[in-house]
Formats: sequence, structure tokens, C-alpha cells
Amino acid sequence: MNPDQPVRQSELERLVTAFRLLADPGRLRLVAALLEDRELPVRALSRAAALSETATSQQLRVLREAGVVRRRRLGRQILYRLNGGDARALARTGITRAAFRSSYSTRKDATVTYIIAEPCIDIKDKSCVDVCPVDCIHEFDRILVIDPEECIDCGACEPECPVEAIFPEDALPDKWEPFVKINYAYRDATDGDTADVINRLVDDYAREHNVQNEPIN
Ligand code: SF4
Ligand code: SF4
Repeated sequence: MNPDQPVRQSELERLVTAFRLLADPGRLRLVAALLEDRELPVRALSRAAALSETATSQQLRVLREAGVVRRRRLGRQILYRLNGGDARALARTGITRAAFRSSYSTRKDATVTYIIAEPCIDIKDKSCVDVCPVDCIHEFDRILVIDPEECIDCGACEPECPVEAIFPEDALPDKWEPFVKINYAYRDATDGDTADVINRLVDDYAREHNVQNEPIN
């Protein structure tokens, strides 16, 4: 996306409508139950969304009138499925992230996070950013770092790095130990100082270690 390109008012209004539709927990659970091209009757949706059948029918009517779901009769059953559109796309993104977080809910007790180390300095091709499901990789002047609080340790970024800069913290080579501090500075730096702290730490490290990483093609 080009951040300089203004988004049309009509598109913003469509997004606002989609956010409003999903801002109700019951409706969001209904939409989530219908992701992956499922087609379900009211009774199954009621169970999936933890709503009474009456409440389920009411919310499905709201979603149908907004064009988020459609229905068809099959014998004696009415089956519902999702249409395409903003609400579906937003729900898919949000639910995917929530599912990742849920499946890694032991994170607070975990001792491992991922660390970006020296080979990233001045390379920054951002291959890792595209695959991170929780958008916890952040760019600074000469390096990217991983937010240790938000990282869910999925490991998706590690094989994407063309210069092998990403390691689980417990497998980081000893020589790159300073990068634990650099990545954790994203969490530990005082608000407003984060960029200054990380940029200074990286500059100091690069100077002391005479880092001259070759650009990649
Ligand atoms: S391991 Fe990598 S891809 Fe997965 S959440 Fe952490 S930073 Fe993102
Ligand atoms: S893929 Fe590797 S080199 Fe590229 S930005 Fe991520 S950590 Fe840095």
C-alpha cells in the first residue's frame, strides 16, 4: 500500500461499516464460524457462537441485510454462508491472529523469543516482515528488531531471512549476544526513546565490530 495515496471516502465508510458489524462479539463469532467456506444451519451456528437460536437468527438477519452472509434452503434447513467483502477479510485477519495467539498462550511462561542479529545490519530486505502473523518485526535505521512481548515464537520468519540473521533466543550464537539487548530494547526503552536507543545501540555495535555487510541482490 502507498501511504501517500489517499483512501477514498466511500472506501473508508465501507470499512467503518465492516468494523461496526464485527464489533459485536456474537456477530464476530458467527462470522468466524463461517470462515473457511463453511455453510451452516442456525442450530450449528448457535452452538459455535454460544448464542441462543433466537439471538443467532437476529444477528444473522443483521449480517444478511448488510450483505455479509447469504442463505439458501436445503430440504427443511436454511444454510448460511459468508459473502466476500470487507467484513469477511477483516474477520479472517483478526481471527487468524487471535488463533495464533491462543495457540501460543503459554507465551508469558515461555523463555524463548526470536532475535534478529548482526547479519541484518544495513541489509534490511524485510522478507521476514511479510510472513510474521502478528506484525511484531519493526524497522529502525540500520536493522529490524523483534518485539519480544508480541512475538509468538511461530518461527515463520527464520527460514525467510536470506542472510540467516534470525535465531531463537536460546540458539543465538554467543558472539551475537548484544542483539538480545538490542531486540529487547523495543520493549524496555522508555516511550518515545525506542528508536534513539535501538539506533544508538546498533551504531555502537557496528562501529566496535566494524560491520560491513555486503548488500544482497
Ligand atoms: S517468530 Fe518471527 S514470524 Fe513468528 S511471531 Fe516471532 S517475529 Fe513474527
Ligand atoms: S529477512 Fe533478515 S535481513 Fe531481511 S529484514 Fe528480516 S532479519 Fe533483516
